[in-house]
Amino acid sequence: MPEAFVITFVAIALLVWLILRRSGDVPVDSFYDPSDGDRQPHKWGYTDTIFEFDGPRSVRVTGSRYPLAGYSMPYFVPFAEEVLGVAITPEEMMPEVPRQEPPPPRVHADFDAALRQTLNDDQVSTDDADRIVHSHGQLSVDEIYRLLYLGALGRVVDIVLYPESEQDVRHIVSTAAGHGVCLVPYGGGTNVSGALTLPQNEERPVASVDMRRMCNILSLDEENLQATIEAGISGKQLERELGARG
Ligand SMILES: Cc1cc2nc3c(=O)[nH]c(=O)nc-3n(C[C@H](O)[C@H](O)[C@H](O)COP(=O)(O)OP(=O)(O)OC[C@H]3O[C@@H](n4cnc5c(N)ncnc54)[C@H](O)[C@@H]3O)c2cc1C
Repeated sequence: MPEAFVITFVAIALLVWLILRRSGDVPVDSFYDPSDGDRQPHKWGYTDTIFEFDGPRSVRVTGSRYPLAGYSMPYFVPFAEEVLGVAITPEEMMPEVPRQEPPPPRVHADFDAALRQTLNDDQVSTDDADRIVHSHGQLSVDEIYRLLYLGALGRVVDIVLYPESEQDVRHIVSTAAGHGVCLVPYGGGTNVSGALTLPQNEERPVASVDMRRMCNILSLDEENLQATIEAGISGKQLERELGARG
C-alpha cells in the first residue's frame, strides 16, 4: 500500500514537472542564463561573468549566469598548467594598459554631408570608442591582445554608421561608392577569423556599417517554417521573438 502511494506521488510530481516545462515556467535550456546585461566592450561575454582568483591557486566564475558560478575550483589551475605547460598565478596576470587614441578619422566633408541627407545625427558616429570597438572581433585573440595589453590596434574604421532601414542601407552604399569609401558590415562583432581586421595600409576612408538596429522579423511563414529577418538580429533576439510567437 505505501508503495502504491509513493508511485502515485512520483507520477503526479513528474506530470506536474512536465506540464510546467512545456508551459515555459522551467526554461528548456537551463545551461546558462541568457538575459541581457552589460557586455565587455572588446571581449566576448558579459561584464558580470569573469574568472577570478579566490585563492593563490584557486579560481571561481563570478555572477550567476552559469550553474558553476560562485564555486571555488582548486583543481582548475593545476589542470590548465599541466595542459598548457605554463605557470598561472595572480602575479603573472598582465594588467590592461590605457588605450591609445586612434588616428584622426579620414572622413571627408562631402561624404559626411551626403550621408546626413538621409541619416540622423545618432546614426553617424566618429567617436573614438565606437571606432575602436567596430575595428576588431571579440574573439580574435591577437587583436584583443594588441588592444588591451599593447594599447593600440593600428588602422581603425573612420566612421560608424547605424542604418535603420533598407532605404538607409541603399543610401549608405550608393554614397560610399560615389565617394570612394570602403564599407565593412558589422553584426555582433563576435568573429573569430579576423574578418573585421582592416588592411593596415588602407588609404581610403573606411566606414563600419553596424546592422544591429535592423533586427525585425519581416515575415514568418509558419506552414513552411520560413522567415524573412533583417540582417542585424542576434541569434538570442531571434530565438526570443520566435518563442514569443509560439
Ligand atoms: C562562442 C562562439 C561560438 C561559436 N561557434 C560557432 C559554431 O559552432 N559554428 C560556426 O560556424 N561558427 C561559430 N562561431 C563563429 C560565429 O559563427 C561567428 O562569430 C558569427 O557568425 C559572426 O557573426 P557576427 O554577426 O558577430 O559577425 P561580425 O563578427 O560582426 O562580422 C564577421 C564578418 O561578417 C561580415 N558581416 C557581418 N554582418 C554582415 C551582414 N549583415 N552582411 C554581410 N556581411 C556581414 C563582417 O564584415 C565580417 O567580415 C562561434 C562564435 C562564438 C563567439
